[in-house]
Formats: sequence, structure tokens, C-alpha cells
Amino acid sequence: CGIVGVVGKGPAAPLLLDGLSRLAYRGYDSAGIATLVDGQIERRRAEGKLHNLATTLASFPLDGTTGISHTRWATHGAPTESNAHPHGTSRVAVVHNGIIENHAALREELESQGQVFSTETDTETVAQLLDLYLARGMSPVEAAASAFQRLEGAYALALIFAGHPDLIIGAQRGAPLAIGYGEDEMYLGSDALALAPLTRRIAYLNDGDWVIVSRTGATFHNAMNQAVEREIKLTKLTG
Ligand code: GLU
Repeated sequence: CGIVGVVGKGPAAPLLLDGLSRLAYRGYDSAGIATLVDGQIERRRAEGKLHNLATTLASFPLDGTTGISHTRWATHGAPTESNAHPHGTSRVAVVHNGIIENHAALREELESQGQVFSTETDTETVAQLLDLYLARGMSPVEAAASAFQRLEGAYALALIFAGHPDLIIGAQRGAPLAIGYGEDEMYLGSDALALAPLTRRIAYLNDGDWVIVSRTGATFHNAMNQAVEREIKLTKLTG
């Protein structure tokens, strides 16, 4: 139900957790974080309140300067730790707000091509689709652009990729996503409030947009994959 992402220069996990706490007002049943550690995807997830995720992180800390995090309000699959986001494979991790309406058809297609699912969620179809494209040799940007063409329903998405520590790809269709501009550091959030302690400089995606975020900036594309500009606005929100 909430998304936060950081492409940063310092430890990402504390920022990701704090951002989630600012989205808690939306309600949620579980939460999770994935970061890139030496190029590999690592994640921690917990059922219930953010306190449980914080406790898990205290026992099993998560390094890495780039990562994504999520509070989930389950629509497909029980509110368990194994259905908590991020979802993914060794190649890609995905957080998602909304519903992938064609998840059943996608799952069937992907399973017939040898992809092995480990959750009951609609979201995992996005991860397995990306994994298949990456396994075929597509770059993260190619895989994401191709995957977005296949998805039906409402979503905000944030993706990280193994071996790409300076990259988050985001997308908005029917669920909001904002990009925050820091100093040598960039952020994604479901809204500006999630990023309030980090930056006031925010660009909003238009519906159908997707975005490539690195430490130094963001490149926006519309639903037709044309490069577009999105204005950076100063929000009035304070920490
Ligand atoms: N449909 C997804 C799920 O049930 C995402 C729900 C959400 O927006 O948190 O896992």
C-alpha cells in the first residue's frame, strides 16, 4: 500500500524504514525491504507492524545504498511473510501497489515457460516476467519497458536489479508515485510525505509514465515510451 525507494550514497535501510513509517497512515498488513549488497539482492520481510520489520532488521541488518521498500495491503494471497513484498528472483526485486488484473493468464504463460513461482500474489507475475526477459539477455530498461506493455490493471511499481547498484525503475498506472531529488541521492515514494525528511524537491509521474532513476537524476518516459520531462516542484511539506 506504500512504496519507498532510495538510490543513495549512505545506508539505505534506515531511510527506507523511516519512509514506510510515514506511509503507515494508509494501513498495511506486512512490510519488507530489499537492497543491493555487493550487487546481489537481499531482503527482509515481516508480517504485521513495521516494528516487526525493524526488529528483524536489528537482528539481521541490511547493508546497501540502493533499495526499495513496501507496506502491503493484501489483495491476492494471504497477509503472510512469504507473500510480503519485495518479490523477485536472484535477478530482480519488485514492490507493487495495486492489482495486476491479468495475473492468472500471465502466471500460466510464465509457468509454461519454466518460471517457478514461490508466492500466491499477483505481484510475483511482474517479477517472473522481468526475470524471464533478463534471462533472455535484455537489459533492465529493456526488460522493464517490455514488461510494462504486458501488465493490465492498476499499479505503482519500483524495481531493482542485481548487478545494477545505481538504478531503480519506477512506473505509475492508476496508483501514485513521486520522485524526490536529493544531493547525489534520489528517492521514490508513494507521496511527497514519505520523502519529507529527505527532500522537498519532487517530480510527479503522470499516469502511464515510467522512470529510470539513478543517483544523479531521473529520466521519464510516457506510456508510448517517448522521453518526456516532468517538472520538479518544491513541496510545502515539512518533516
Ligand atoms: N496486489 C498486491 C498484493 O496483494 C499489492 C497490494 C498492495 O497494494 O499493497 O500483494
